[in-house]
Amino acid sequence: MSKRILRLLSLTALIFLVAFPLSLQLKQEGAGTVEKVTDKVFCIQGETANIAVFLGKEALLVVDSEYPKTAPGLLQKIRSISSLSIKYLVNTHYHGDHTGGNSIIGEGAEIISHKNCQASFLRTLKPEDDPKSKGAPQTIFEKEMTLKMGEDAVRLLHFNPGHTSGDTVVVFPTAGVLVAGDLFFHGMAPYIDVEDGADTANWVLTIRQLAEKYPDYKIIPGHGKVTDMQEWLKFSDYLEYLRKEVKKAMAAGKTKEQAQESIDTSRFSYIADIGQFLTKKANIGWIYDELSR
Ligand SMILES: [Zn+2]
Repeated sequence: MSKRILRLLSLTALIFLVAFPLSLQLKQEGAGTVEKVTDKVFCIQGETANIAVFLGKEALLVVDSEYPKTAPGLLQKIRSISSLSIKYLVNTHYHGDHTGGNSIIGEGAEIISHKNCQASFLRTLKPEDDPKSKGAPQTIFEKEMTLKMGEDAVRLLHFNPGHTSGDTVVVFPTAGVLVAGDLFFHGMAPYIDVEDGADTANWVLTIRQLAEKYPDYKIIPGHGKVTDMQEWLKFSDYLEYLRKEVKKAMAAGKTKEQAQESIDTSRFSYIADIGQFLTKKANIGWIYDELSR
């Protein structure tokens, strides 16, 4: 192949990656699978992200809504679990792969998020967009909120910025299940939204606090398979290691690119690179940016 064609191809690839960073690279193998995590909690694998369903006595609570284009199919999956109405739709954070389907799945429901999630969601709208018809979160909380689902209480918790500035962890105490949102990319390199105020120090701390409080809980990650607290702790080890190594590289006067080249991540074989966007090198770069703020 000529150099010109190669250059053209790589340029096309770049445009492709920038335009569709998550939707095309993160494709989940089991998309469409409904997993019964407990009698009351279900995880539906979307095209790239997970959504969780809590089956209350009189109504449903849904966590996240994926994309506008996948939401109708996800709604059908929810209907295959129960025909009860959806009372609450909780957003774990503002990213489009978790909130894009809000207006479809959340129609008639109360849409709830952390206050920073609502602010970031509104910031991403175009001036002509109507927040209500786009499914913007209506009810917000700051530190924690408890929702009554019949005899079950559901807890929404916020622990300062982590993956974004407004992450929510959803706890189902009567089921022993916790929804981590994108505070957990299971088995893969995470996205770190530095521009929105991500903070990897808080992120590590949050996981460890939750592990102490809910050691035996099942964990539904934002992306990847349902798992347990041990796996989430291993993910926190990865973030902690990168922070330590990036700090060392910065102290030695290395540039971001030099840090990306020199930091050895070989012991984290359980963290896979996904495409060219979600990679361990990208993680080093984002943490470098975060620590340079
Ligand atoms: Zn995210």
